[in-house]
Amino acid sequence: MKPNEHIAEFGTIDAELGVGGMPLSRLAARVGSTPFFAYDRTLLDRRVDRLRAALPARIELSYAMKANPMPAIVQHLARRVDRIDVASSAEMLTALDTTLPADRVSFAGPGKAPAEIRRAVASGIIVEIESATEFRRVVAAGDELGIVPTVAVRVNPDFAVKGSGMRMGGGPQQFGIDAEQVPAVLHDFAAAGVDILGFHVFAGSQNLNAAVITEAQRRTVDLVTELAEHLPAPLRYLNLGGGFGIPYVDRDRPLDLDEVAAGLHELVDGVIAERLPDATPVIELGRYLVGECGVYVTRVLDRKVSRGRTYLVVDGGMHHQLAASGNFGQAIRRNYPVAVGNRADAAAGGGVTVVGCLCTPLDLLGDDVELPPAEIDDLIVIFQAGAYGLTASPTAFLGHPAPVEVLV
Ligand SMILES: *Cc1c(COP(=O)(O)O)cnc(C)c1O
Repeated sequence: MKPNEHIAEFGTIDAELGVGGMPLSRLAARVGSTPFFAYDRTLLDRRVDRLRAALPARIELSYAMKANPMPAIVQHLARRVDRIDVASSAEMLTALDTTLPADRVSFAGPGKAPAEIRRAVASGIIVEIESATEFRRVVAAGDELGIVPTVAVRVNPDFAVKGSGMRMGGGPQQFGIDAEQVPAVLHDFAAAGVDILGFHVFAGSQNLNAAVITEAQRRTVDLVTELAEHLPAPLRYLNLGGGFGIPYVDRDRPLDLDEVAAGLHELVDGVIAERLPDATPVIELGRYLVGECGVYVTRVLDRKVSRGRTYLVVDGGMHHQLAASGNFGQAIRRNYPVAVGNRADAAAGGGVTVVGCLCTPLDLLGDDVELPPAEIDDLIVIFQAGAYGLTASPTAFLGHPAPVEVLV
């Protein structure tokens, strides 16, 4: 997708990018300092509505909050999704501050410390078990607290999902229990006093290929149907993962949600209805829910020409938005969409290189990007900053102050 298409998603007001119904320079004045992250709640709601309209009504939507754990976002989404997935006990506390009941919160991740497991069991959330060791720890915490823990078993599937930005299932993995080991583990813990609701399979992240996602979901349901025979009770929880990607660079095409939804309708009305009638299917999404609603806004500190190349030096950088610098999961660096937010309607005026304020060549936010002519004090916007932005960046690097985050 091109930067102009991202500008169109947000819309323009008085020839500026509109965020949360305000021209960007006015929003910057309201925030009071740059750089900052702004998340647009109208875009968030639009995304949830679009998902709800496309997906089968029986599918529950879970927000994987590690994508953006800002409490205001989590609170906002908690009223619109069915569940929240957390990846640490700090995230668990944020999720438990919402109106969602504890049994609508799940906790996944390969390295849950015994103390975290104890807190999770005490709170009554669903612990997604990733190994036999974790199972033992959950049982021990339940015994100690006099509580029957609720769990789901995270399964490392016996297939891999091609085309994921990050593969998290198939082959050897630190995530989940290998599918072929699951029957034995279930057998070992059948009488342990734990309520095993079902399974969770999360095969990969940042996938833009609907056919691949659909195939993975079909295989997940087949696998889980087999494994369900080893459960002591009917399967009630079927977390199909997600991995829906968003377009970050020029050549990325947005995911065809209708195609994914068509596959899910077939699964829900077919195999799931027939063979797993008690199952609640869950789709768990992080970046697809929040990634496109956010912008990272920086101010131009300097404009200089070095041997024919024009540089815009901005007051932000990779310490806040590591992914846009290409140093977070990209094999080949490609530009994230960039715009001059206070000149959203202006025509491009040649290639410029946008760099952050850190003293390292890695701090590159836009390499030879076509932008309208920008001056000192203009606002440079990086799109697709709503997920894995601030909390996935090395904020302590060089010791600059932390940016403000606003939900508008
Ligand atoms: C990180 C994670 C997600 C979210 O991934 P996205 O690519 O942001 O959608 C979902 N489920 C689990 C278990 C995760 O670890």
